[in-house]
Amino acid sequence: MAKKGAREFVGMICSVCKSQNYITQRNKVNIEKKLELKKYCNKCRKQSLHKETTKLK
Ligand SMILES: [Zn+2]
Repeated sequence: MAKKGAREFVGMICSVCKSQNYITQRNKVNIEKKLELKKYCNKCRKQSLHKETTKLK
């Protein structure tokens, strides 16, 4: 039987301007820590640290 809810969609927000720039999937079972990735932010017009948020806009 397939497990439901193991995967969830999370948003990635820029830690500088707090705008949500990316949406990604993550597996709750395998990853317990919050995701932090360096990504390009359109608002800042540069690479910045993006953090995971469960609030999707
Ligand atoms: Zn930004």
